[in-house]
Amino acid sequence: MFKDKYASDVRSSNLAWNEREEKAIDRLTAIGMSDQLGAALFRFKFGSDAFSGKRAIHLLAHKAKCNLGVELSYATKLATACIKEFVLDNCVPCNGTGLILNGARYDKCGKCGGSGVKRHSDSERALAAGLPVENFARNHQKKFDQVMTCMMASVAATGAKTRQLLRDAA
Ligand SMILES: [Zn+2]
Repeated sequence: MFKDKYASDVRSSNLAWNEREEKAIDRLTAIGMSDQLGAALFRFKFGSDAFSGKRAIHLLAHKAKCNLGVELSYATKLATACIKEFVLDNCVPCNGTGLILNGARYDKCGKCGGSGVKRHSDSERALAAGLPVENFARNHQKKFDQVMTCMMASVAATGAKTRQLLRDAA
C-alpha cells in the first residue's frame, strides 16, 4: 500500500508531521511540481490542518464535477467521504499495525488481513457522504470509486515527488 510506503520512507518512528515534510510539500507547491489537491491532502492528514481539509474537499469536488459531469453539491458529498477514508485509514481492531496480541504472541489481524488498512463498509461510506444507506451500492458506488481514483492519483503523484525531494535533500 502507498500509505505504508509513504510512512516508512518519510516518517520516522512517530506519526507526527515534521517540519522537513512540511517544507518539502511547500517547496513542491511553490515550484508547481505538486498539484494543490495532493498538497492539501497531505497537510490535512499528517499535519491535522483543518483548513487544508476544507480545501482538499473543495478541490476534489471540483475535479469530480468536471470528470464525472455531476452537480457540485453531489460531487462535494462524494469528495467528503473519499477524503474521510484517506485520513481515517487505520484498521480499528489492530490500530493500523496489522497485528493482534493473542496471549503471548502476535497474530495477523483478522479484520484487515494484516494490511493495517481499514476497509470502509457501504453504510460507513453512505453516512460519510450524507447519502441514503439503502441504495448506496447500487446508485453511488461507481461514482464514489471514480472520485476515489481521482484522489489517489493526486496522492500518489504528490507522495512520489515528496519522497524524491527528501531523498535529494538528504
Ligand atoms: Zn487490522
